[in-house]
Amino acid sequence: MLGRPLYGKITISGKVILKTGLHIGASKETMEIGGLDSPVIRHPITREPYIPGSSLKGKLRTLFDRKMEKEMDNWKRRNIGTQRNPIMVHVCPNRDEALKCPLCRLFGSSGDTNSPARLTVRDCHLLNREYLEGAEGGLEFTEWKFENAIDRVTSAANPRQIERVPAGAEFDFEMVYDVENPKDVEEDLKNLFMLMEMLEDDFLGGHGSRGYGKVEFCITRMEAKKVEWYKEKKNEDKHEILQEMSLRDAKEKIPELAGIFGGSNGSG
Ligand SMILES: [Zn+2]
Repeated sequence: MLGRPLYGKITISGKVILKTGLHIGASKETMEIGGLDSPVIRHPITREPYIPGSSLKGKLRTLFDRKMEKEMDNWKRRNIGTQRNPIMVHVCPNRDEALKCPLCRLFGSSGDTNSPARLTVRDCHLLNREYLEGAEGGLEFTEWKFENAIDRVTSAANPRQIERVPAGAEFDFEMVYDVENPKDVEEDLKNLFMLMEMLEDDFLGGHGSRGYGKVEFCITRMEAKKVEWYKEKKNEDKHEILQEMSLRDAKEKIPELAGIFGGSNGSG
């Protein structure tokens, strides 16, 4: 595709730690009275619950969308749902605008011309399987929590059980950022870490207002590679930071990572 030169890749990996139970449902069926909520999403073979990369990415995108709406006049949204159930998401109308838009650069935009995302978020796999083998659900690795919801329309009580991954579970995570313009690296990565910090004070998955889905990130590795590295494997074309870092610590390393692409704009 024209206009998308690839300068290199920056990989950020670590752990997502559940501070409270997490529910990411496999389907959105209507809930029966007394029934079990949509089951937790699982790996088809191992049965281990996992966090789909699309869920994590979608949540970060939503937080960014809301923050940008607060800051911008004339923030553009489009309905990608139906008329009855509108889902409004931000779009930039064309690629030129998307390249100037911090949200669309990271997460992509499907306006009149598509602008692909620079950020890839992979599925997060369970790390501490042994810990979850002690859950009441045994080899299903989950617990069931009883919730008494009130139907918003009829005010009738709708007791149901919600399956969730217990607090204390840990998942790996990996995000890959494509360097398409060295001048954007620092700003894009700063925004990414800011969104992860916001997510720690927000929630992942469903039932957040009941306290579900509080997560904490621990970064263990960051690596920047220029495209040349893939061919020549020269040390100067790669920069790796291998240590346990909080989001705040990781943020301070951004200029180091951006540095190998030579595009620092001096704002860091
Ligand atoms: Zn945009």
